[in-house]
Amino acid sequence: MESSTQLERLFTQLQAGDRAALGKAITLVESTRSSDRPLAEELVQRCLAKGAKALRLGITGVPGVGKSTLIDAYGMALIDAGHRVAVLAIDPSSSRSSGSILGDRTRMERLSGDEAAFIRPSPSSGALGGVARRTREAILLCEAAGYDRIVIETVGVGQSELEVDRMSDLNILLMISGAGDELQGIKRGIMEAADVLVLTKASGDNLQRAKMAQRDLRNAIMYMPPRDSGRQPEVLLTSALEELGIQELLEHTEELYAADVASGRVKRRRQEQDLYWFAHALQEGIQERFHSDPHVVDALPAMQRAVLAGEMSPFSAAKELLDRTYGRCSE
Ligand code: GDP
Repeated sequence: MESSTQLERLFTQLQAGDRAALGKAITLVESTRSSDRPLAEELVQRCLAKGAKALRLGITGVPGVGKSTLIDAYGMALIDAGHRVAVLAIDPSSSRSSGSILGDRTRMERLSGDEAAFIRPSPSSGALGGVARRTREAILLCEAAGYDRIVIETVGVGQSELEVDRMSDLNILLMISGAGDELQGIKRGIMEAADVLVLTKASGDNLQRAKMAQRDLRNAIMYMPPRDSGRQPEVLLTSALEELGIQELLEHTEELYAADVASGRVKRRRQEQDLYWFAHALQEGIQERFHSDPHVVDALPAMQRAVLAGEMSPFSAAKELLDRTYGRCSE
């Protein structure tokens, strides 16, 4: 992407809801080429100015829990209700070894064939911070393109599921019933960030087990601190393959969203999230600049040796290097 005329055209197509243009725009914000950055930022700025708002819904669950099958069914139900649905994935490359590719179109068959849906597989590389920034920007682009329901898909194994809570309005945590130890293997923080818990594959032989797990979870939830919404999460059962519980899930999430818009929670969360990402970006920027400062590059190895040799304490070494780089701060 070279010129602002091209950017102009891309933005016009994007606003018209052109899926190819949206794909191209996301590729631009995902680009790691620093020469693409100014145009990417201009594009994001324009989308921000448009002020379109969508329900941003985080869907988290370990690989195999049934995320793509559920998103396919839930997404189609949203489309039937008149919405346009975008699916984005946060997939830090470290979790790739699990073998499941998030946001893979072939795993959401009906949704991927529908004109009212846009599915974006996760970018294949980059540090988590970078992934988070790209996802945040992709959300804004999708909103500007007229998608009013945005699903952010993530696996519940790394740090990513906590990041998703910094981007979403509501979070759904998918869980499998059966093992009897539903609370294990899922970090407390993830449970606590959930607005809705969904037990997947609740049909046939598994239905009884799912109902028992539902009871157990409802009991366990009573001992958890409530969300900032003041609510305890509801525990729902679904069978995406049989289309069971999907409509209930949709109605429940729509009700929560409407209540949160009315109470100001959505607005407050987004403000807090913006401040968080501002601080996060500052921190990353400071680190990057610090470590690319020629003075630091020059001085760091000797100071590391001094720390290793026990000649300097780690703390005084850090203070000295910072003082030397930025000047001594007044006490
Ligand atoms: P993901 O890795 O979390 O995205 O999980 P998938 O959606 O790919 O589902 C993993 C496996 O579980 C697949 O073989 C699905 O067919 C199966 N599955 C998903 N949802 C259901 C369901 O509602 N009922 C049953 N019986 N199987 C399901």
